[in-house]
Amino acid sequence: MREVIYMKDLRLARFSTERSTIEVKGVTIGGKEIILMGGPCAVESSIQMSRSARTVKKAGGKILRGGVFKPRTSPYSFQGLGLEGLNYLVQAARENDLLCVTEVIDASSLDLVGDKVDLIQIGARNMQNFELLKLAGTISKPIILKRGLSATIEEWLLAAEYILAAGNPQVILCERGIRTFEPSTRNTLDLSAVGVAKELSHLPVIVDPSHAAGRRDLISALSKAAIAGGADGLLIEMHPNPAEATSDGPQSLYPEQFIQLARELGTVAGSVNRVFACGGQEDEDTLESLRTQIDNIDQSIIKCLVARMKIVGKVGDQKRLDRVKDTNREKEIIQRLVNLAEELQLPSELVKKIYPLIFEFGVQSQIKSKVALDKELDLSCYPLGSK
Ligand code: PEP
Ligand code: MN
Repeated sequence: MREVIYMKDLRLARFSTERSTIEVKGVTIGGKEIILMGGPCAVESSIQMSRSARTVKKAGGKILRGGVFKPRTSPYSFQGLGLEGLNYLVQAARENDLLCVTEVIDASSLDLVGDKVDLIQIGARNMQNFELLKLAGTISKPIILKRGLSATIEEWLLAAEYILAAGNPQVILCERGIRTFEPSTRNTLDLSAVGVAKELSHLPVIVDPSHAAGRRDLISALSKAAIAGGADGLLIEMHPNPAEATSDGPQSLYPEQFIQLARELGTVAGSVNRVFACGGQEDEDTLESLRTQIDNIDQSIIKCLVARMKIVGKVGDQKRLDRVKDTNREKEIIQRLVNLAEELQLPSELVKKIYPLIFEFGVQSQIKSKVALDKELDLSCYPLGSK
């Protein structure tokens, strides 16, 4: 009975035939590869972030985390470094070829970080901040949406629906433990929620074992359990010096523990037909991991072609039927891309072969839609049966 209610309102988040993948600068979340994200709870200094970034990179992680606006339980706890911290996060990520994510807590923090980070986190405490969800729906960055401390799966998915309904299709769900009567851990990691969310929704689901456990000794086991349970990635707190951390030190892994965990993840991933390649030359270049990288790039190429064809369609709407093919513009584009290819040491012959085909398909689709439109107009001017 309840299922009927929320399935009805999951208009965009509901699973129908295919799982969604989210592409961010060459990283695919929700594909075959398990995506590891790590870093401190809060950004504290430039050196802390650059050490954290090096560890994440070494472990084969793809995304550096770090909070600069911290929604703390007590008003007297450290609230984050704000913009100064954001610069440390972004710079450390960039220097280590990582993406970065930070949490936003309101409209103004979203405004401040929106253009600077690659992904945005909406934390457990803001999962039902509906105005923030609606704003997150207006931007074109992936949103990691944590499950609220006491939110049901239904409420969590409907929160995701808010972002989707406001126009942003890139939502990643994150299970981070819920409040139960059990006091031995900070929260209770609800691993069933991963399976349930993936059954009901097409969105990728990741797991944050750190805020669930609240203690570092459980992180490794919970991370492996999450991967075995179908999670698409992990968001783990790690600090170069947890004893000195301004927040969540007891649950933060030491860098060596983070790397050790990453070394062990590949086997678990393999057992559920996923891949995870720990950093380091030997692991990065296995045939399987290279093929995964190629598969991800191929997916991005096709998605880019889809986006190109959509724009070509809009351009077609503005052209006259006898002006659809523009040979001069095609020549100009090819010349520009040949120059770029040469600069990047890609054989320019490839560009010269591929692009005429892309143009041809674009022109054909513009002609087809123009002819269809003309027919429609004819029919509306001279409806069937009229004289
Ligand atoms: C965090 O990731 O630092 C955080 C505050 O998480 P949550 O919103 O899950 O408590
Ligand atoms: Mn934290």
